[in-house]
Amino acid sequence: PSRVGEELRRGLDQRIWEIFYYLRSEFKKSDKEPSYKNHTIDQLIHLLAYSSNISDTQADWRKASLEALSERIQKKIDEIQNPDDCAKARVLVCNLDKQCGFGCQLHHVGYCFTVAFGEGRTLILTNDGKSWRYSKRGWSGAFLPISKCTHAAAVNGEGVASYRQNSERRVVELPIVDALQDRPKTLPLSFPKQLEDEMIKLHSNPPLYFISQFLWYLMRNNAEMEKVIEKAVSNVPFGEGPIVGIQVRRTDKIGTEASFHSVDEYMEWTEIWFRVQELRRGHPLKRRVFVASDDASVLPETKKKYSNYEVFGDVDIADTAKLMSRYSDASMYGVVTDIQLLSRCDYLVCTFSSQVCRMGYELMQVRRPDGEAFHSLDDLYYYGGQHDHQQIVIEDHVPERDNEIELKVGDSVGVAGNHWDGYSKGKNRRTQRQGLYPSYKVIEKWRIIDFPVFNN
Ligand code: GDP
Repeated sequence: PSRVGEELRRGLDQRIWEIFYYLRSEFKKSDKEPSYKNHTIDQLIHLLAYSSNISDTQADWRKASLEALSERIQKKIDEIQNPDDCAKARVLVCNLDKQCGFGCQLHHVGYCFTVAFGEGRTLILTNDGKSWRYSKRGWSGAFLPISKCTHAAAVNGEGVASYRQNSERRVVELPIVDALQDRPKTLPLSFPKQLEDEMIKLHSNPPLYFISQFLWYLMRNNAEMEKVIEKAVSNVPFGEGPIVGIQVRRTDKIGTEASFHSVDEYMEWTEIWFRVQELRRGHPLKRRVFVASDDASVLPETKKKYSNYEVFGDVDIADTAKLMSRYSDASMYGVVTDIQLLSRCDYLVCTFSSQVCRMGYELMQVRRPDGEAFHSLDDLYYYGGQHDHQQIVIEDHVPERDNEIELKVGDSVGVAGNHWDGYSKGKNRRTQRQGLYPSYKVIEKWRIIDFPVFNN
């Protein structure tokens, strides 16, 4: 298959989803005859299944190619992380112990990692991650060390300079991304020009696929953590048919960083996915869902209301009280297990405003890559601190309502969100106007950047 062919195939699929989002949302507001609405939705689901069948014809080739590509990237990361001489290596020091939740901390280290990698520096955790509010035993109590070089060996008594792009200093340290003055080109959503062709051919979302490689490398479990994960995995029938993962983020997030979403909303999208899959595969499917949440009421509620589903999830983990005393080994093991299990599901329904769900989705991109295997009830996928996410207009748009913006072919739009109703919100860079526009009238504008480490 060619790159253009793959782009066209995925573009078609995305456009069918956009008309599905549009009509589904319009039908909810309209009093047209139910039979007309149902019939239209049925036809669209049929079309989505048909379209996914096309991708099935090349599934083995795509899987094998992506595995080979991931292996190549992991090897390169491993090489940079393990230099011959720790005392001479150019290093970047990053403090794991940011004052926030697990997903937020890992995303912080992931951002340090891409900056380091972009400059061919070895990433080192401050004090080797020994002072970590999640565990007295530190980073290595749960994960493999990220480098053979210890902090002491790598710094080797040298002064640590604050980060500047392409600084001559051997040892530099990064602040949190919000405080970063000198923003490297390599920050997400960038991906290497050296891998451009393969990435665009093989994955619908190359920047996501690329950044995920760093989170994957970070989250390599030690033996103890591996046992915990294996046990949790064995309680869910992965491999016996498709399973949808839902992650329901509530408690402290509601009203501050996200809105409340009922279990029914998550399950509505789960059911839509199963309907498409049944048609795609041509036989009935056992309904299975894995539930992750910080709210203890979600698992019992799902079990009670959806008796046609087999519902999985760890009762112990979904204990709000335990999660409230957030920084403990127990809560860390809980959230790592949930992230790992979400990454093994075939499809995710969640709010991308949650870093926990985004991490599950990110690990999925290395385990069994599929950039389209999600429905977010709020944000588009993003990486904290990313460069402006831009799209290019491929069809003119004349505003039809006050809150819409004009588009002309070739305009760049900074996208703020997809409303999952056929419209996205963004700012046209030409007119500087912000508002809604039909999502199908744009394509992604990729940030393709030189990563010299891939030159040899
Ligand atoms: P965010 O606040 O959801 O964006 O993600 P963070 O990881 O930064 O902080 C949320 C914290 O709440 C996590 O680190 C967990 O301790 C807890 N938490 C949130 N969602 C879940 C979940 O689905 N499962 C578990 N076990 N813990 C969760």
